[in-house]
Amino acid sequence: FDERIYRGRFAPSPTGPLHFGSLIAAVASYADARTHRGAWILRMEDLDRPRERPGAAERILKTLRAFGFAWDAPILYQSERTPAYEAALSRLAQAGLAYPCGCTRSEIAAIAESGPEGHIYPGTCRTGLVQGRSQRSMRLNTQGARIAFEDRIQGPQSQSIDASVGDFVLHRADGIHAYQLAVVIDDAFQGITHVVRGADLLLSTPRQILLQRHLGLSLPAYAHVPLILDERGRKLSKSHAAAPVDPDDPLPALNLAWRLLGQTSLPEHGSPQAFWDLAIPRWRIEDIPAKEALTIEPTLQPI
Ligand code: GLU
Repeated sequence: FDERIYRGRFAPSPTGPLHFGSLIAAVASYADARTHRGAWILRMEDLDRPRERPGAAERILKTLRAFGFAWDAPILYQSERTPAYEAALSRLAQAGLAYPCGCTRSEIAAIAESGPEGHIYPGTCRTGLVQGRSQRSMRLNTQGARIAFEDRIQGPQSQSIDASVGDFVLHRADGIHAYQLAVVIDDAFQGITHVVRGADLLLSTPRQILLQRHLGLSLPAYAHVPLILDERGRKLSKSHAAAPVDPDDPLPALNLAWRLLGQTSLPEHGSPQAFWDLAIPRWRIEDIPAKEALTIEPTLQPI
């Protein structure tokens, strides 16, 4: 790694083209990295092969280039990182922190309470697989885990992981390593010091911090930017405004993202490069509204 002390990243999943919701996260992480004269690194989160759309990764990269983003290192593809996830998982298992689970989704649904992130796994297999059962997934023992951290945008956060999430999955029944594990291993591998991403991941962060602690990895600073909702309160990525951002017309989307991030409007500019030249020195993360979601009026919608 080079010696720059700030290393930020953007980690899209190639499940479709780049949407406005992801663009906001990209703009915030890029502006924050560049303001700190930091590196900005891309990671393609292509672990979930069943959800991947052919050509989506290439299309996302083409769109990012058209929007004037420039990244500093070769792109890391999670699909090539299985041995690293495997090694981390066996360390956790050897330390008695991860355990095999034989429960099916419907069995869990029948007995578990619901939490903010879905069913709270009640720990059925924590002391061993029920007799006659075979392993389906691997889970982390979260007993007693309470995590607190200071988000650079959202302020102080704390979560009792066992009470609100439960023993979460590290390796899925379909053979895929879970996002929570992969993201922690790769943020450490890429030397990430600052994570700036959407507030849909705010509730995941305590799980990631817990894994960092167990694996002895250093803790990045976290900043979660508000999600953008349409006038009916739907996530933009789920509504009709989920249209991909247009690589042939980047400036309206860049300017809208900038405004929604609470930043002061920029003087006239005619290209993405000129946008960034003006934007980066003016970036103030303190001006981002400390909210998990923002609603935008229909007239402001990017399409
Ligand atoms: N791949 C995730 C997404 O596209 C982002 C993961 C992260 O930023 O930690 O939602």
